[in-house]
Amino acid sequence: MEAERPFAGRGIAMIDHRKQGGACNGIRRGKSFGRRDVLSLLTGTALAPFLPMLDAQAAPLTYALRPQRLTDGIWLVPGAQEAITRANGGAIANVAILDSSEGAIIVDTGPSKRFGEALAALAKELTGKPVARVYITHFHPDHVFGNQAFPADVIAAPQGVIDGLKQVGEDFASAMYHTAGDWMRGTEVVLPRRAVGVGLDEVGDRRLRLLPLKGHTGSDLAIFDERSGFLFAGDLVFLDRAPTTPHADLERWQISLATLGAIPHNLLVPGHGPAEHGGRGIVQTRDWLSAIDRQVREAFDSGLDMTEAIALALPRWTETIALARYEYERTVMHLYPRLEAARLPRVDRKS
Ligand SMILES: [Zn+2]
Repeated sequence: MEAERPFAGRGIAMIDHRKQGGACNGIRRGKSFGRRDVLSLLTGTALAPFLPMLDAQAAPLTYALRPQRLTDGIWLVPGAQEAITRANGGAIANVAILDSSEGAIIVDTGPSKRFGEALAALAKELTGKPVARVYITHFHPDHVFGNQAFPADVIAAPQGVIDGLKQVGEDFASAMYHTAGDWMRGTEVVLPRRAVGVGLDEVGDRRLRLLPLKGHTGSDLAIFDERSGFLFAGDLVFLDRAPTTPHADLERWQISLATLGAIPHNLLVPGHGPAEHGGRGIVQTRDWLSAIDRQVREAFDSGLDMTEAIALALPRWTETIALARYEYERTVMHLYPRLEAARLPRVDRKS
């Protein structure tokens, strides 16, 4: 299988030396992270390939939400398969709208207040009802900054998501103002007020099984809708777009993917990429994570420095995945400091 092939080649890659400074600020597991960490993860690296877009002032600041009807009473508002830029206003994550007898149910609120307002209006238009419940799958800014458009007491998330957003929400907002610019005007952090755990949530005539998991971040929520058999996976699953890893625990992520794969479902809605029937998203995310993890570890173990690891070629099968090189480079920058911390303990610290 192509996915199993070792990464032998040394590709010719453009090395962006601006990234090297930020690389040292990679988030270290188990420690709190600060503004510089967040900015380097979200801003510096996200901006670098898109500098020509910085003066895209002509872009109209109206999100054109184009809902896809997935089945009766469920719509997907697909995110762009891109990094966050001033051209797309940060609208890169999938958002779902479900109808229920009690009102609309929303899964993730998008990148900004402006997006959230457009989403609330769309949900009202599609369902003819106000919003009864909002679920937040994890604390990443492309999924949570539309919260302001909804009453905080209808917004539900696992406690870990709420805690994470409380800790770094302001820094995420600041980073988003840098990357998405004017689209973010007026956006503030709104914490979900309903903490949810594993179990069944009934919203009107919808029965939703909540599955708090981990791996993409320290707290990820997947949701299974019993009536449709649809599984909303959040960013535990990416399809045809390379996974992001700034807060990932790859081992736990693989366990969560196995959990999701064992749930019979009619359709899987990933956090990024098209909804699909065949389980391809779970397989592709699993293969990507294991391939990247192996490549970075082998590079580290063979003594390559971060710049050399970033320059390594990616396997052929990743060529059709959007942002493969971009996210690979970011993943090297996230994982290298962790490997250094784990394998090269400081001599001035007792073990
Ligand atoms: Zn995410």
